[in-house]
Order: sequence, then structure tokens, then C-alpha cells
Amino acid sequence: MTDFSQGAAFIDDEYVPVADARIPVLDWGFLHSDATYDVAHAWHGRFFRIDDYLDRFHASMERLRMSVPYSREQIRSIMFELVKRSGLRDAYVEIVCTRGLPAPGSRDPRSCENRFLAFAIPFVWIASDELRETGLNLLISSQQRIPPESIDPRIKNYHWLDMVMALFEAYDHDADSAVLVDAEGNLVEGPGFNVFVRHGNTVMTPSRGVLEGVTRETILELLVRENLEVEQALLPAATARAADEVFITSTAGGVMPVTRISGKPVGDGKPGALTAQLNAAYWALHDDPAYSVPIDY
Ligand SMILES: *Cc1c(COP(=O)(O)O)cnc(C)c1O
Repeated sequence: MTDFSQGAAFIDDEYVPVADARIPVLDWGFLHSDATYDVAHAWHGRFFRIDDYLDRFHASMERLRMSVPYSREQIRSIMFELVKRSGLRDAYVEIVCTRGLPAPGSRDPRSCENRFLAFAIPFVWIASDELRETGLNLLISSQQRIPPESIDPRIKNYHWLDMVMALFEAYDHDADSAVLVDAEGNLVEGPGFNVFVRHGNTVMTPSRGVLEGVTRETILELLVRENLEVEQALLPAATARAADEVFITSTAGGVMPVTRISGKPVGDGKPGALTAQLNAAYWALHDDPAYSVPIDY
């Protein structure tokens, strides 16, 4: 029996242990970061909002003029099969489409056969258990996020050099992670997460220059349910620094408190009550049949 306990991958029409999954070096996904991907998750043996992740993945492929020989239904079943084979109850499930290999010697993207691959690995957290308890110190990076005029940020992509350099900058300043800015210095997003700030009864999140996170969307829905005022707008750094509460959202962790911005305490410097309430509500939705589907192991 093949051992999938460290994770299972689907590539070239086969299921293999994730450590054995490989792509050729000439694939443009590797050589040009010419790829799109998505990350869904299973929690306590159930997929969360899987159809929303699939919608986003298909929209991304369409915007990049990619197509794969698997239907949406087939991709959905592959995701279930990967989690089943791995036996993981809590899994991080990534689906990827790369541009693939061009015709030999060609630089014409139309000659590429797009590649689909996917994998399920143990659930990944953006922030450690301790940081999710105490709150993160989030650096407002001097790094500008690739502008939406260059690359549509609604397409989940591997253009991460700005994010990675921002992480180095954060660690140089003893911060835990970084949020990048646009050309005017407004906050946009960080490596794999969206950002929210609360001022009194108003909760703000950047309206542009960001990936439309499924977690972000879930939190926006929960905020409306709680009768809080929600504003999707530009988020100047000064507004974030003066916030009563700041939190970040991601599939890889849910709702995580930020208690310092560039080293300075947010509010009283403790994780906010709304953050904790939203995080509890977010995880509670994972057992709700309206938001999640069971995996038949
Ligand atoms: C994945 C990602 C997010 C968070 O999106 P979720 O769907 O909530 O996981 C935010 N920003 C970027 C750049 C991302 O890649």
C-alpha cells in the first residue's frame, strides 16, 4: 500500500505521495510563475465552501486563458479523493493550473498544454498557536504590492517576490508578518491573507488591490449578520495605525488578531473581542451543512 499519510498529490492522471510529485523544469509554471492556484481546506472531515474555491479557481483560469482536460466536477472529486487517500481530517488542499510546456523552442503561450495538479497535506497555519493567542506584530511594509494594473490580484497567483521580500523586512524588524501597500501607501494585503481594521462600530477592509479571499467574504457575511457597519474602501496606513482592532483572514488560519502594527500597540495591545467572536463564529460554520460537505473516508 502506498503511504499517503504525509499528503497525497494528483499529477499526470495519477495519485502519488506528495513527496514524489514533480513537474518538468521547462513548465512555464516554474520558469515564468505562469500559473494560478487555489487553496481550500477540510476541517474535521468536511470541506468548507468548496464550491466557492472552485468558482474562484475557474474564474482565475479563464482570466489567464487557461484550460485543463478535467471538468469542474472531476476537479471536485479529485479534491475529495486526495483527502480520502491521505486520511487527513484537517487538510490544506491546493489545486494548481500551470501554463505547461510550450512546443519545443517556442515562446508562444498558445502552444502550451496547460497542466493541472493538486495535493492535500496536513492543515497549514499562517501563524503559530502562540501568535494566534497573543496576536501578531504586523509590519506595514515599505514594499509595494504588484499593482492591479499589472497583474489582476483577483487571480490567485505565485507572484510572491514582493511578499517574500516584505517577510524578510518584517523579520528584520522583529515583526511576525507584513502587510504590503499600494503606490499611495494604502494597505492592501499580506502573504496569503486579507486585512481588516475596526474603528468603533465600523469595520474596514481594502476594496481594491487584493485577492477576494473566501475567508474575507465569510467575515463580511458575518459582520453584516452582527449589524456592524462594513466599509470596503482604501485603507490608509494612518487609519490602520489608529484602529481599535486589527485582524487578518486566511484559509490558512481563519481570523487572526493583530496586536501591534509596526511594533506599536493596537488599541490596548490585546487581541480584540470582535476578532475572537468572529473567529469562533467562523470555525462554527465548519460544522454547518450550509457551508460544508462531509468527506466519505
Ligand atoms: C490566498 C490569499 C488570500 C486569502 O484568501 P482566502 O481565500 O481567504 O484563503 C489573500 N491574499 C492573497 C495574496 C492570497 O494568496
